[in-house]
Amino acid sequence: MGLKLVCQSCTMPIDNIADRGNEKDGSLSSEYCKYCYQRGAFTEPDMTYEKMESVVKTQMNKMNLPVDTIQKAVASLPYLKRWHKVKA
Ligand SMILES: [Zn+2]
Repeated sequence: MGLKLVCQSCTMPIDNIADRGNEKDGSLSSEYCKYCYQRGAFTEPDMTYEKMESVVKTQMNKMNLPVDTIQKAVASLPYLKRWHKVKA
């Protein structure tokens, strides 16, 4: 596994710039995906860690990803920039 750039909110890979969110000035975010982050703000500011955990599981299940891939993503959530303060 190489170093993949992933969304620091939901673990989605954002290597593809088309998947990245953007800042207020329209520049692309290098930290968050387009689903989590638009125009310099989170699309769902009220999202909690617990809610994100279940969203990630649900979305990855829909994509028919292997169970261990899903578990790894969920396990990495507490280390993401958006959540590490919450779970520290
Ligand atoms: Zn995201």
